[in-house]
Amino acid sequence: MSKLIAAGAIQGARAMVEKAREALEKAIAEKGEDFKFEFVDTAFYLPMIYAMTGFPVKTLADMKTALGFAEELLHESPGSETWLPYLGEALDSGMGMLFAEEIWLAARTVLGLEPAVDPETGYVYNGFITDTIQRNLGIQLVDGTMPGFAVIIGAAPDDDTAVKIARELQEKNILTFLCGNVNGNSVTKQLLRKGVELGWDSRIVPLGPDVEHALYAADWAIRASLIFGGKKPADFKAHLLYQKDRVFAFAIVLGPLNDTIWATGAGAINMGFPAIADTDIPVIHPTGVCIYEEVDKELDHSRIVQKAIEVRGLKIVVEKPPIPVAYGPAFEGERIRKEDMFIEFGGQRTPAFEWVRMREMDEVEDGKITVVGDNWKQQFEAGGKMPLGIIIDVAGRKMQKDFESVIERKIHHGINEAQGLWHMGQRDLNWIRINKAAKSAGVTLEHLGSIFTTMLRYKFRSIIDKVQVTIYTQEDEVKKLLEDARKSYKERDERLGSLTDETVDTFYSCLLCQSFAPSHVCVISPERLGLCGAYNWLDGKAAYEIDPTGGNQPITKGSLLDSRYGRYSGIDDYLKKASGGAVESLNLYTIMENPMTSCGCFECIVAIIPEANGVMLVQRGHQGMTPAGMKFSTLAGSVGGGMQTPGFMGVGRNFITSRKFLAGDGGLKRVVWMTKNLKESLREALTQRAVEEGVPDLLDKIADEDACEDSEKLLEHLAKVGHPALEMDPMI
Ligand code: SF4
Ligand code: ZN
Repeated sequence: MSKLIAAGAIQGARAMVEKAREALEKAIAEKGEDFKFEFVDTAFYLPMIYAMTGFPVKTLADMKTALGFAEELLHESPGSETWLPYLGEALDSGMGMLFAEEIWLAARTVLGLEPAVDPETGYVYNGFITDTIQRNLGIQLVDGTMPGFAVIIGAAPDDDTAVKIARELQEKNILTFLCGNVNGNSVTKQLLRKGVELGWDSRIVPLGPDVEHALYAADWAIRASLIFGGKKPADFKAHLLYQKDRVFAFAIVLGPLNDTIWATGAGAINMGFPAIADTDIPVIHPTGVCIYEEVDKELDHSRIVQKAIEVRGLKIVVEKPPIPVAYGPAFEGERIRKEDMFIEFGGQRTPAFEWVRMREMDEVEDGKITVVGDNWKQQFEAGGKMPLGIIIDVAGRKMQKDFESVIERKIHHGINEAQGLWHMGQRDLNWIRINKAAKSAGVTLEHLGSIFTTMLRYKFRSIIDKVQVTIYTQEDEVKKLLEDARKSYKERDERLGSLTDETVDTFYSCLLCQSFAPSHVCVISPERLGLCGAYNWLDGKAAYEIDPTGGNQPITKGSLLDSRYGRYSGIDDYLKKASGGAVESLNLYTIMENPMTSCGCFECIVAIIPEANGVMLVQRGHQGMTPAGMKFSTLAGSVGGGMQTPGFMGVGRNFITSRKFLAGDGGLKRVVWMTKNLKESLREALTQRAVEEGVPDLLDKIADEDACEDSEKLLEHLAKVGHPALEMDPMI
């Protein structure tokens, strides 16, 4: 390792510890040592310190103790005679740097200085990244839609270069964090000046104005091994190895480097994250800690992203349809306000629908796109609206009628990923907007067609051989075809409704989350979807057809061993292998004994409330307290990591209204508390289920956060309303 880098890292860390101490003393002077501190919405205290040492920082006094850990990791700068070895010392200092930065940021938060605000523009940086965001992103991390993470430190030589680098990362679907500055200028400011949309939706997240804010990204990364990996606090080796093998992060340093950057970089190298600079720096090539080089340079800005990707060992395949605007998941979150809109379709304003039909091979002409009726190119001024019927005919030797709805759901992503195009809803409740910028870039209705022909053929390449798109814009024609489409939607729904766990022989596994939670397997049956909510049985079936060696595998049910709890011989056999021996047996319909494991990206948590003889339900993102005595984030911390935790379980939102939901424990009647959000979003289906269960007013009897947030009041509430759980068999 270069002496310059080692010396920089060691000095940078020493200075940071002093800086953290100063901030901490200030915070203590203001609030006192016993002042309780937690970063917003996390169950992991100061996550880096907690993961590495197991020490939970809960007060300012605890921060003082933790600063001692950072100090212990410091070293003397190498003297002018010493020349070998520095790597160990630099890495120690790097870890000390991360601890000190974490304490500095925590103290600043206490002092009201975080999240940072830019004094010139008033722009509010993201600051600390919550557990909720970590979990929300979980699915994209595992399914490959977000292959990696970049931290850009500093500022590009000019605004246009900053935009080019950011766009390239976006098009490669890489989540990008921004921090640091060069004499007050930064990529954040450069992108703001250029009107680039920033934030989680566009996958470019400014963390703060200083290099130290990179720690928020490291803090976010380290929680992946806590949340998804089930790695124990203090098992630092396991955490660092997990980071290196599973979290594909890297840093791009734009502009001159200083000791703070070297020291932060040394911290990142501990985690296996390399750094690429755009200046002529000494490089470190020995591999082992990182997958490839640890520190490298690339002076050509048009090559720097590619270089970083190579150095981190990322494989990125991006398919883009032939359209005149940018394309990728980074544009999915973009909204189109009315003022920016050129034209819209559907959304209750005009008749519209989208419909995927399975056809015979000879009925489909591959790649054909037809617009029937007026084309908006000719006749509309900005602000217009038009009817729109989209019929996508697909054919393929392995295509099945059941896959129509799976393919149809991809229309949403397909359109949204195009810059300047926006889509919401589905079927005959769809709503599409195209903005003025996309219009002037030359987007036409035919391009909608090319999005579908390209993307569907790519995403479903082993089941679809031919795709043909017809777009209708004449009101009477759209209305007429709408009737046919509705008939088809209805048939599909009836078919889906008739699918039960009993009527099929095969369930599907989902192993996608194993890249983060190695022992976790979702078992997906017709009546139970994956706990992230993104995959149901049909999706599993289609995914298996598309890629027979992929993350969704068929599980032959085998014989029924326990009908009440939903235990099957074939599932147990499969799980022993697929979970690497971690799961011996699974009961699909109970929370009390061998329930499904949880990875970390569950939509909701079911938790037992023993004193109420029932369970509660809370969704990801709910900030308040629950009658289990824990907030969602704390509960989630004890459920994830691929373990079976009797009494606690992560579930997909729609599983709650399934007839199989806790069927072995008494079903929906066991629910004594759920958030208002869940009640409202599932009201219709819940009410119907309550009627089936013979308690039509069950929903009113179930408490929510307005009724109570602790178990004592919950019991009063249940007694008052006469909740059925009180009369049921004891759960324990
Ligand atoms: Fe992960 Fe389960 Fe969702 Fe698959 S279905 S992505 S394993 S949570
Ligand atoms: Zn998951």
